[in-house]
Amino acid sequence: MATVHCVRCGRPEAPALTRQPYPGKLGAEIREKICADCWNEWLRMETMVINELRLNFMDPSSQEILTRHMREFLFSGGGEIEKNPDPRP
Ligand SMILES: [Zn+2]
Repeated sequence: MATVHCVRCGRPEAPALTRQPYPGKLGAEIREKICADCWNEWLRMETMVINELRLNFMDPSSQEILTRHMREFLFSGGGEIEKNPDPRP
């Protein structure tokens, strides 16, 4: 089975996703950096986010909001800005 060094849970040999779970560049990044377990966790969280925020997919801004939550959940602060320094008071 393919493994991945997951940036979310930190396991060096976590089970990899068998296919890209999301379209585009972000999906490719998720497949490379996120394990199947963390992705499944997000799927559960996604349902909660959709219900809580009452997202409606006829509205393109809802998809945007959901993607932002997904990035935050998986990369704790968004893929390409993951290197931002810890903001200490
Ligand atoms: Zn993981």
